[in-house]
Order: sequence, then C-alpha cells, then structure tokens
Amino acid sequence: MALPPNAADAARVLAEVSPARHFIDGQFTEGVLGKRFQTVNPATNEVLAEVAEGTAEDVDRAVRAAYRAFQEGPWGRMSGKERARLLNAIADGLERHGEELALLEVLDTGLPIAQARGQAARAAENFRFFAEMATRMTGETYPVGDTFLNYTVRAPVGVAGLITPWNTPLMLATWKIAPCLAAGNTCVLKPAEWSPLTATRLAAIIRDAGIPDGVFNVVHGFGETAGDALVRHPLVPLISFTGETLTGQTIMRNGASQLKRFSMELGGKSPVIVFADADLERALDAVVFGVYSLNGERCTAGSRLLIERSIQEEFEARLAERVARIRLGDPLDPATEVGPLIHAEHRRRVEGYLDAGVAEGAVMRIGGPVPEHLARGNYVRPTLFTGVRSDMRIAQEEIFGPVLVSIPFADEEEAVRIANDVRYGLAAYVWTRDLTRAHRVSARLQSGMVWVNSQNVRDLRTPFGGAKQSGIGREGGHYSFEFYTELKTVHVALGQHPIPRFGA
Ligand code: NAD
Repeated sequence: MALPPNAADAARVLAEVSPARHFIDGQFTEGVLGKRFQTVNPATNEVLAEVAEGTAEDVDRAVRAAYRAFQEGPWGRMSGKERARLLNAIADGLERHGEELALLEVLDTGLPIAQARGQAARAAENFRFFAEMATRMTGETYPVGDTFLNYTVRAPVGVAGLITPWNTPLMLATWKIAPCLAAGNTCVLKPAEWSPLTATRLAAIIRDAGIPDGVFNVVHGFGETAGDALVRHPLVPLISFTGETLTGQTIMRNGASQLKRFSMELGGKSPVIVFADADLERALDAVVFGVYSLNGERCTAGSRLLIERSIQEEFEARLAERVARIRLGDPLDPATEVGPLIHAEHRRRVEGYLDAGVAEGAVMRIGGPVPEHLARGNYVRPTLFTGVRSDMRIAQEEIFGPVLVSIPFADEEEAVRIANDVRYGLAAYVWTRDLTRAHRVSARLQSGMVWVNSQNVRDLRTPFGGAKQSGIGREGGHYSFEFYTELKTVHVALGQHPIPRFGA
C-alpha cells in the first residue's frame, strides 16, 4: 500500500495548481474580468487555493477556441487510431501523476485517500477504454441489390459543453471527456465550483500529452453564471450534464430554445433489496460499502435498504454494529473509511435530513454528533435509520451523505412496490439465492441499472444511466457514441433508378 502523503507533498501539489486558472486554447489564463473565488479543504475549512471565476466572456473565449479547433484543426479529421494514440498518452500521464491527483482530490473533496487512489486509476482507465473505442467506430451498410448502396457513418458533432458535479470530480470529468474526444469533438469543461483542482491538473496532463490547442478547455466558475453561459452558447450543440435533478431541469429549459442535445446523469435514491435467502454476509458488506463509500456522496449509493421482515431484526442489529465501527476521520489517513462532506453548506443540508428523519418518527439507530477533534471539518457520522416508512422524506429524497434508511418488506410484491416508490430510478441492487426471483425482480424494477448479488462493479462497455428522474440517455461503451456523434446516412445510387420528370 502507498504511504500516507505528508504535508510537504500536499503543499507541492497545491502549488502546482494555485491559482487554479482557466485553460483556454492550450494556455492557462485568468478570467477576462480577473475575478477569483476560493476553494476550501473540507477537513478543515481552510482555504486551499484561489480559483479564476469564469464569466460569460470567458466561456465565449473557450467555446470559440474549441469551435476553431473543431472547424480548422486536425482533431475531428484524424483517424481513430491517431486519436487513440493521444488518448492513451493522456492515460499514461494520469497514471504517472496518479498519486498527486489522488492527493489533490482528497484535499479538495474530502474523499478518503484509499478511495481517491482508486478513482484516479479509474480516470486513466476511462481514457484507455475510449482510446480503444475510438478505433472501433463503425457504421452499417444497407445494400439494395444493384441499385443503391446506403450506409451510415458516425461523425463528431462539434463543441460539447461538459458540466460536472463535485463528487469524484476527476473520475466523472474523464468519463465525459474521454468519449467526447474519442469521437472527434472538442469541448469546454465547467467543473463544479466546490472541487475545481483536479480539473486544472488534468488540463496540464492533457496539454502535455500533445492534444492540439483548443480541443480541450476548462472554464471554472459558478453554475448560474459560467455553467449557464455554456448551456446557452449558440456554438455548443451538445451538453453532457451530471448533477442534481433540479439543475438538470433548469439546464434543459435553458437549452431548449436551441434544441440542444442533452445527456443527463442525475440524482438517485437506489434500493438494496435483501431477501431472507441471500448470502447475508456478503449482502451486509455490500450494503455498508454501497452507501458509506465515497462519503455517501455517490449517485448510485444504495441509500435505501429494503429488508425482508423475517430477518429484519438480526440484519439490522449486525448492520448497526458495523456502521458504528466505520472509521470516520482525516481523509489523508489510509485507514479512514469516511471523510468529511464536500462543503459546510452540504453538511448542513445533510444534517437537516437527520433532523427531519427524527421529526418524522424514524429511529436514529446509529448517528449523532461527531467527536470534538473533527469539529472543524464538515464531518457527519455514518448514520443508520431504522423504523423508516417509504413516505418519509429521508426515504424519498436524495440525501447524498453517509445516511442509510432501512425499510422492512413482507414479500416480493411489497419489495418491488417500495423499491419503485420514488421519483428516481438510477441503480438497484438485489440480494437473493433464488435465481428465478433475481431475474423476476430485476425485470420489474424501474431502474436504469440493476446489480444482482453484487456491489456496484462497473463494466465500462455497458450502458450507464437512469430511468425516471435519474436521467436521460445512456453513456458507456458504444452508447456514449449515440450521444457524442451524429449518425449520418449516405444513400448512393448505383444504377439508373426512376426519377419522376416533373415539367419535362
Ligand atoms: P449540481 O446540480 O448542484 O451541480 C452540478 C454542476 O452543474 C456544477 O458544475 C454546477 O456549477 C453546475 N450548475 C449549477 N447550476 C447550473 C445552471 N443553471 N446552468 C449550468 N450549470 C449549472 O450537483 P452537485 O451538487 O455538484 O452534485 C451532486 C448531484 O449529482 C447529486 O444529485 C448526484 O446524484 C448527482 N450525480 C449523478 C450522477 C449520475 O451519473 N447519475 C453521478 C454523480 C453525481
């Protein structure tokens, strides 16, 4: 295992990205108006770095650079193989700088270092995967005897606006950038304002990999200003957004008049259904990891445990024991399992849900104040609510923190009904040894993704996305190209097909 980073390492990686500037047309640059904001360390609430605050003018500069690179540069016209070589060079860079990226992510987001290392590795993997996919973009042919040959080709669309949230920001940004570039588009990334640092470091890695100027750009700043300017910019036909459902709705409204193409990866309130016949040891591990990993700030978190009534008491007792022992603390300590939440404002929001749960009559089985030595940071104790009804706010709304609610069910019918009783439909998890039931329940769950007897293990080839208000569209594997390419049909006449001769 890698050693815990020390203060000198932290100072060094911060110095490299301070102040965090925009990256436009291959250059790091301050904003047109020279405005800045600050990003803070969630573990201490001390300022980490100054960050350029993007305005509509900065977004316009970045979009125009991306547009020029798309129209005039080599990127969109290169062979897939050539783009793949450059994407692999980005992956090499991400791997070379993996440790420092992980450290930067911990400082900026409070993600525990062991998990941040995993996310940094995934970031590199995303580029490797889509490098390979770049060489596999194919079309179909539709021969019509000897009269026509019709075929399809996938063409890049243009400038993509990529808008990302603050949870696992590096991994999620690369999840968009890699397929976007693989398909031959250019882009402007607007990272979340609470976690801007790894995007800044990523820009330098992308530049050093030899990606042509203007192909990849970053504009920092707030959603309502920089993000909104990107959404409304007439030279940006594609918007890939990951974030809250409410923000997604606003963005779609604001882009609607220009009929933009949207990919929406939104919120979740995913159920983990544990039947009495399941492998309860493994189910317990998966339930705990599924909601408390990544500080509970995870879109696919299994935040609702649905537990069969016959094993409820025993399972909840064992769960409570485990949750009480989760190691909450300094995210730089490799032994830490849950770190601080991203921001004091978010911590207050999560605490508001804890109060709401108690007020509605749920039992806070594990939870309560954090130890005194953690009071400076945005820590929330891993919390378990039992005695929860599906109509309570804590069972309906996305809390996005280390909070699990446990709801009992009597039979399969009731389990499915409760699982589907929310407006979200991102992920679902089913634990049972009954093979037919596993398939039956999976089929009835209103959810974009289902895992059976498994924690959230991603196969990058499979489609990722949500049903209901968890999103629109799918990304991952060749599904990403449904979004990032224009599918064009070419009809070629091979012979003398009839053409009506009007006015002849
Ligand atoms: P958020 O919606 O507050 O912000 C996301 C991004 O949108 C930020 O960059 C923000 O600056 C920008 N933004 C805000 N208002 C905007 C506007 N009017 N126009 C343009 N851009 C705007 O989300 P968050 O709090 O950063 O992230 C947490 C949310 O993301 C959770 O709901 C979580 O479930 C969701 N999420 C979903 C997935 C998924 O794949 N489905 C993955 C990760 C996170």
